[in-house]
Amino acid sequence: MLFDHCAVCRSCCHIEAGYPPLEVVLPQAEQKRFGRICIEDQCEHLGPKGCKLGDAKPIGCQLYPLTFDPQSSSFFFDSECPLLPEYQRQLADPSSEASTHLKRMRQAIDTLSVSDPTFLQLNFDADSDYFDIVPLDPQGPHGSVDSPGSRQKVKQ
Ligand code: SF4
Ligand code: SF4
Repeated sequence: MLFDHCAVCRSCCHIEAGYPPLEVVLPQAEQKRFGRICIEDQCEHLGPKGCKLGDAKPIGCQLYPLTFDPQSSSFFFDSECPLLPEYQRQLADPSSEASTHLKRMRQAIDTLSVSDPTFLQLNFDADSDYFDIVPLDPQGPHGSVDSPGSRQKVKQ
């Protein structure tokens, strides 16, 4: 399964030494639920097998390694996530895990575009500042890019 590797990698839930803290941008509804999530070392919700929140994790975390630019209405991918080549490849198959994830995220973004458009812009601003993002080709592998390997945040 595509995201099974996350339990081993866990890279996006902790910050490597020397890198600035990462605030998980939360929609208004999630701010009431979580308060604030700021990763300075390791996220407080990270357990030995990955995120302890499971499917109830914040939408920004569900979206990752994608991020969505509301200005261009397009998805981007964190190029440092090792799943990029396989995710991009799977998009050629509409029944794949990546296609299912992308479809679910499109639906969530459609809802947020109405309920909390500010969140979408703030989330994209934070992701594009912090990560080395590349455009996602929603049609499949055409235009995919090579993964540089293990994930590193863009040092600030
Ligand atoms: S960096 Fe990618 S592979 Fe690693 S835990 Fe995050 S989403 Fe999963
Ligand atoms: S809430 Fe869960 S998925 Fe999000 S950063 Fe924390 S541990 Fe990772």
